[in-house]
Amino acid sequence: MPDLPDRYQPLPAEELLALDRQHVWHPYGPMPGRQEPMVVASASGVRLHLAAPVHGQQELVDGMSSWWSAIHGYNHPVLNEAVTTQLGRMSHVMFGGLTHEPAVRLAAKLVEITPAGLEHVFLSDSGSVSVEVGIKMCLQYWRSVGQPAKTRLLTWRGGYHGDTWQPMSVCDPEGGMHEMWSGALPQQVFADAPPGGYDAPVDPAYVAHLREVMARHAGELAAVIVEPVVQNAGGMRFHNPGYLRVLRELCDEYGLLLVLDEIATGFGRTGTLFAADHAGITPDVLCVGKALTGGYLTMAATLCTSRVADGISQGEVPVLAHGPTFMGNPLAASVALASIELLLGQDWAQEVKRIETGLRDGLAAAAEVPGVRDVRVLGGIGVVQLDHDVNMAAATAAAVREGVWLRPFRDLVYTMPPFVTSDRDLARICRAVCAAAREG
Ligand SMILES: *Cc1c(COP(=O)(O)O)cnc(C)c1O
Repeated sequence: MPDLPDRYQPLPAEELLALDRQHVWHPYGPMPGRQEPMVVASASGVRLHLAAPVHGQQELVDGMSSWWSAIHGYNHPVLNEAVTTQLGRMSHVMFGGLTHEPAVRLAAKLVEITPAGLEHVFLSDSGSVSVEVGIKMCLQYWRSVGQPAKTRLLTWRGGYHGDTWQPMSVCDPEGGMHEMWSGALPQQVFADAPPGGYDAPVDPAYVAHLREVMARHAGELAAVIVEPVVQNAGGMRFHNPGYLRVLRELCDEYGLLLVLDEIATGFGRTGTLFAADHAGITPDVLCVGKALTGGYLTMAATLCTSRVADGISQGEVPVLAHGPTFMGNPLAASVALASIELLLGQDWAQEVKRIETGLRDGLAAAAEVPGVRDVRVLGGIGVVQLDHDVNMAAATAAAVREGVWLRPFRDLVYTMPPFVTSDRDLARICRAVCAAAREG
């Protein structure tokens, strides 16, 4: 690249890794990290192109969609165009006192495609912040309508809602990433984890348990917050959508708001556009993120009903006091809009079905692997659960040798590939999951 300034000349991978080790903190890691990360030089379609070969592989098929987000794959011409077109107009302006077309159109689109009744959209910069905002909305709603004692949250165990303070307080308090903070976090109310299995019938004993917990705490509870249908980072568990209908009814009966965290499940991943659609319910508050921008830029949104918005806006402090600096970022909003239109402009449900079938076929073999406890697939999500904690280094290496990028955790080897993954690449991902389960 002769005409570009020095900072565009690629550093040798060795040097980059040395600087990384010295200075750069990675997710959920110590400083310096114990496992050397792989250097990605570029990405296109479903492939990550490495700066230097690892286990003989120069490129890896991405089985993770960059943590659920890159549903259309990388370097997509339509999404690139959305960003570059917007870049020529403006990359950002503050959102206080100003507005712009990308944010307005995105908000209107989100209202159109999410369950009926969600009318108002608060844009923010990450999933965790959208959960913070959703929780703030619920607490403020009750304060505004004269019930300030309703400040706690009810959730079921096995959940994950992000890494900032309030979201951490509703993550599973045991075995998860935030266990050490249990004494320091707001004390929330936990019900048992929902019984596993999308197809397992609704268990009346569990419903009675939910009712009992809710009844006992109703006076102090502002809201129930759960991940609908799929609990992801808390253990990759699926449950019957019937439990969401139960929660909706119980929340109405006991005077609680219902928050659905669809940051992972939104935009088709579970086979319906939103996981709430499996149950046909509307929550009072809905959080989306991750695939919102097709994995291009960081943005999340919190939607709420008019009841919640009116309650807040007619209260003693009639404003929602939240306003991230990069709220409504035009680049992110533009690419989000393009990503949603790209998704809806194709038979996305058929594509997710195709991925589901490919995962079912390809992962069936994993059930025979010694040490495998369970294999489960829903929509574009495939999970192999082991009877032991996975050896991350060995499992990752096994996948890389198959030419695939996976990021196992705890006792789980799992994949949620981009929706554009071909059948051939999907089969490869499945072989890699099986190899990782065998060697991890
Ligand atoms: C990833 C995730 C979050 C947190 O989103 P960030 O963008 O990482 O802050 C919250 N809830 C769920 C269900 C998630 O999957």
